[in-house]
Amino acid sequence: FTVRRPSEGKSSPADRSPSSLLPPAGHFIGGSFVPGSSSDVIDVIDPTTEQVIASVQAGTAADVDVAVEAAVTAQKAWGATTPKERSEVLNLIANIIEANRDAFETIESANTGKPRTVAEDDVASTIDTFRFMAGASRALTSMAGGDYATGHTSVILREPVGVVGVITPWNYPLLMAAWKIAPILAAGNSIVLKPSEQTPLSTLKLAELVAGRIPDGILNVVTGQGRTVGQRLSEHPDVALVALTGSVVSGQAVAATAAKSVKRVHLELGGKAPVVVFPDADLRAAAAGVRNTGYWNAGQDCGAACRVLVHESVAAEFTEHLVREVGTLVVGAPEAGADVEIGPMISRPHYERVKESLAEAAAAGLHMAIGGSALEGPGYFIEPTVISDVPAGAHIATHEIFGPVVTVETFASTEEAITRANESPYGLSASVWTRDSSLSLSVPKQLDFGTVWVNAHLVLACEVPWGGFKGSGYGRDLSLYALDDYSRTKHVMINHGA
Ligand code: NAD
Repeated sequence: FTVRRPSEGKSSPADRSPSSLLPPAGHFIGGSFVPGSSSDVIDVIDPTTEQVIASVQAGTAADVDVAVEAAVTAQKAWGATTPKERSEVLNLIANIIEANRDAFETIESANTGKPRTVAEDDVASTIDTFRFMAGASRALTSMAGGDYATGHTSVILREPVGVVGVITPWNYPLLMAAWKIAPILAAGNSIVLKPSEQTPLSTLKLAELVAGRIPDGILNVVTGQGRTVGQRLSEHPDVALVALTGSVVSGQAVAATAAKSVKRVHLELGGKAPVVVFPDADLRAAAAGVRNTGYWNAGQDCGAACRVLVHESVAAEFTEHLVREVGTLVVGAPEAGADVEIGPMISRPHYERVKESLAEAAAAGLHMAIGGSALEGPGYFIEPTVISDVPAGAHIATHEIFGPVVTVETFASTEEAITRANESPYGLSASVWTRDSSLSLSVPKQLDFGTVWVNAHLVLACEVPWGGFKGSGYGRDLSLYALDDYSRTKHVMINHGA
């Protein structure tokens, strides 16, 4: 593999230059951009060039406190709006993003290095999330009340929880923000959001574009580090719930801090998705599925199809198909052409971690069926890699690598496949590939994962929930289940003496 650079492919039009699209400086609090309490800044780096493309404020606990105050005030009015009014605001946000699609795609690609096709998909899904939640906010009902004690009638109310602290990751900055913002606002809450310090630009752009067009203070954005801004959000007494998408370590830190004020926590953490391929499966389809979803976003996806468990009788044939498929992937910068499918790792530390995992696998004698190395810089590019004949329990097959690396293990029986797939600290998503209708239901029922696809992988829709078991966290994004997570239930019992 080589890295395709812009000069070698189709160059980007001038209006796609991210520098002309940068959001204003400052935190977005109470409807406008305000300077923070510290002059410290965080550099934002384009991982394809390693160049600084912007810098944002390093927020402090004091900045969070100001934002929470604005959110508390705004929530009082916002929580009293009707579902129809909230729906109109969410549809307006969707329209604003749609009208600025190109700007969002450019900013997201420049900040993450992701291919344009991935950024396009992110922005389309973001718009759809706001539209879905706009409708869903009007479908919210409580369970029916009734007469459960003589002379008393019960009414069950669904209420907003109040101010929600949101902490987002770097892999899908805008989309992960949307997965939180849309249901949280739909349920009548206000938000203080901290984007990843590595990828704050698209979230700030969203704030810039909605400023003055949605009620002031219902959405606030404070940029900064997890250990300062994220920590303060997790401990602030006026934040009712903290929702984090990120790593297990960050989830543990947030939950531990939130426990001190008995705050509700919503966690979407890591994943290591097994792909279980039975001998009767369409092997070409399974290999193409892994190509398309194991390397999507350069494998920096919590649901990536990164751990194949294939029946030993078809392992050689499947691996041959997979290696051929992976060999067609084009690595490069987003402006290097529409056919680029693999971008860089997000940062130097992450790139070093992925390289280290590959070096450990090589040192352990594992077989690199294709790829296996870092690519020449600038930029944090890693070759799309398939590691075959991986023994049971190998570290690279059971721990999150979060790069373009797929491992292939074999199994001898259905029972072994299920046991091995479940032998993972994570429980986010998995897939099963078979043409046997009995296996297609019995195996998913025995897998300990929040989403199980059959003859597919990484297909998401706003109508269905996304979230994990075990180390992948708890709480559900998308669907009406997310609205439940951001609501509270109140029982009012009226004694009418009848
Ligand atoms: P990360 O945990 O390093 O950072 C996520 C966010 O948490 C950032 O905004 C960071 O500043 C903040 N943070 C870090 N430490 C914190 C602390 N002590 N208190 C409060 N906030 C803190 O994760 P990342 O590297 O940005 O993202 C990659 C991880 O996210 C992977 O593990 C991936 O699997 C996971 N992820 C999960 C999903 C999902 O839906 N389950 C989706 C995307 C990413």
